[in-house]
Amino acid sequence: MRNKQKLISVVGGEYINLVVLDLLSKSFGDYKKNKFPRKDFFQIGHLENTYSNSGIILTVASIESYMSRLFHHNKELIVENKLHKMSSLQKYLKMIALRDKKFNTTKIPSILAEIFILRDTLMHNHIYDIELEHDGLWNDLSYDQTKVLGGDKKFNSHVDIRKYKTKLFNLNVQPLKIGFEELFISLVVYDLFIAINRIVFKDDPFHLNYNFNSEYENNLSEILSYYHSKNPNDEFKIFINKISKQYFKIESDLFVNQQKSVTNNYCPFCGAFGFYKTKGKHNCAECGEEIIIGEVTTEFG
Ligand SMILES: [Zn+2]
Repeated sequence: MRNKQKLISVVGGEYINLVVLDLLSKSFGDYKKNKFPRKDFFQIGHLENTYSNSGIILTVASIESYMSRLFHHNKELIVENKLHKMSSLQKYLKMIALRDKKFNTTKIPSILAEIFILRDTLMHNHIYDIELEHDGLWNDLSYDQTKVLGGDKKFNSHVDIRKYKTKLFNLNVQPLKIGFEELFISLVVYDLFIAINRIVFKDDPFHLNYNFNSEYENNLSEILSYYHSKNPNDEFKIFINKISKQYFKIESDLFVNQQKSVTNNYCPFCGAFGFYKTKGKHNCAECGEEIIIGEVTTEFG
């Protein structure tokens, strides 16, 4: 007997699962070797830089791919509201507003814009002139950087041009300075994006099944939470705790019983980010409270 089946081709469904999380791990390996606070230098280590840049490009490609799928599934909405000519980002934001008027989208445009800027910076090869000053032994004393090519309206409104960093999340946009921290925040934004789509569009096509420390993990926020707890840069950890409360934590009833994501992965005792971690190890770096489910057997190397 012959059967017919209809499938929709979507690229990027496995980028996070099969590639980006390995790049995050490799980038973290190089990042951990730094002394923190990291010296302000015109570039970071090339391994951390290369792994992170590749990870960011694929993370944003996954987001755009997921957006295309939503556009296909919501064709009527696009036709009725004449959204054809908008960019992917504008179309997506308009669609959320049309699908769920109660949903608070005020912060979402800027959050997504910042990681789309990172992607543009890398894919469109923004070019900077960098002037260095050395002492007699070629030790760097100071540097001056100026963007000479690239940028658009989005870049101009979301980037602090004096620092070449985005305004909400302090993401470096000078390509040689983009590293683990930028990739980590891009994945936090990706997880937020997936969680929102699960609620607003009832759609969840990207499933995680990642081999992490010899066990399969299916929850991205728990993997991110694990890296957060192991991060040697206290300044960055404090920053993540601050921005997650401000931009990622969603205290809506809609998210209460959902699977763990960056919208609801917070300490039930004090509210700090990243309580639920891999291997059933759930604890708080802020207040020290913990809940242990199962046995913890390995440590991250
Ligand atoms: Zn706590």
